[in-house]
Amino acid sequence: MVPGQEMEDGRLYTGTLVRSDRITPNSSKEEVRNMVFRTQDLSFDGRTGQCVRVLAPGQFGNRHHARLYSISEVDDGQEHTEFTLCVRRCSYVDDFNGQEYPGIASNYLCDLRPGAAIQFVGPLGYPFTVPDDRNADILMIGMGTGIAPFRGLVREIYRRGGGWGGRVRLFHGARTGLEMLYMNDENQDFALYYDQPTFKAFQAVSPRPALDAPVALERSIADNAAEVWSMLQKPDTRVYIAGPEAMFARVEKTLAETADDADQWTAVRHALAAEGRWQSVLY
Ligand SMILES: Cc1cc2nc3c(=O)[nH]c(=O)nc-3n(C[C@H](O)[C@H](O)[C@H](O)COP(=O)(O)OP(=O)(O)OC[C@H]3O[C@@H](n4cnc5c(N)ncnc54)[C@H](O)[C@@H]3O)c2cc1C
Repeated sequence: MVPGQEMEDGRLYTGTLVRSDRITPNSSKEEVRNMVFRTQDLSFDGRTGQCVRVLAPGQFGNRHHARLYSISEVDDGQEHTEFTLCVRRCSYVDDFNGQEYPGIASNYLCDLRPGAAIQFVGPLGYPFTVPDDRNADILMIGMGTGIAPFRGLVREIYRRGGGWGGRVRLFHGARTGLEMLYMNDENQDFALYYDQPTFKAFQAVSPRPALDAPVALERSIADNAAEVWSMLQKPDTRVYIAGPEAMFARVEKTLAETADDADQWTAVRHALAAEGRWQSVLY
C-alpha cells in the first residue's frame, strides 16, 4: 500500500504526530489524549465530525488493525493540513481467563511520540457543519469522548466575525467528573466561549457511574425541555450527536419527550433527517 492509493472506503494518507497531550488528570485511571497529526497531502479534506480509519500494525498475521476515530478539529494550512483526534486508551477483560488486555489501536496511538508516522484512510462519514445563517440554532449532544468534535465546532462558530445570533447549546454527559475532558480547569476550552451571549454548555456527571451512564445527560436535557423543543422546531436548527452508540436510543427518547406530543416529534424528527440537519457519529 502506498500513500495516495485509493482504498475501498477512501484514500490512504500518511500523517505525522505533531503533539499528544493527556487531557484527563494524571490521577485518573481514564487516559484520554488530544492528538494533533499533520499530513502534507493537501487532498485530505476531512472536517469536524467526520472520521479517519487509522491503520495500526496488525496482530496474529493480520497486516493492519483498523479503527475509526472522529476528527475533532481541522487546521488547513498552505503546505499541510493538521487535524486533531481525541483518543481514549482502551482495554478489555477476556471473559475466558479474566485477564486485562490493551486495545490494539488506541494503545498504539496513545503510545506514539511526536514525529511518529501513521497511516490512515478517510475522511469517512458526514461533517458537522456550521450553517451559513448566523441565526440558526445548533444543538450538540456528546457523551464521554463524544465531546471532541464539538470543541472544534464551537471554535468554528465563534471564529466567524460578527458574532453568532442563534442559540448554541452543548449537553455533555460523562460517567465521572474526571471524564469531563475539555471542561476541566486545566483545559478551559469551552470556558473561552461562556461570555458569548448565545452559548450555553450543560455538564452532566452521572450519579451512578457504573450502572447508568447516560442518566445525568438525559436529566440535563429534560431540565431544559422547553428550550430544546423550541430549538428543535425551528426550520434551520442543526442537531449533532456524538459518543457511544449505547447512549443514542435514550438520548433520542429524551429529545422526543421534550415535544408536546408524539406526532409533533415524528414530524420534527423526519424533517431534521430529511433535510440533513440531524447528524450523528456513534461508536
Ligand atoms: C464511528 C466511530 C468513531 C469513533 N471515534 C472515536 C474517537 O473519537 N475516540 C476514541 O477514543 N474512540 C473512537 N471510536 C472507537 C475506536 O474506533 C476503537 O473501537 C477503540 O479505540 C478501541 O479500539 P482498540 O483497537 O484499541 O481496541 P480493540 O483491540 O479493537 O478492542 C476493543 C474491544 O474489542 C473487544 N475485544 C477485542 N478482542 C477481544 C477478545 N480477545 N476478547 C474479548 N473481547 C475482545 C472488546 O470488547 C474491546 O473492548 C470510534 C468508533 C467508531 C465506530
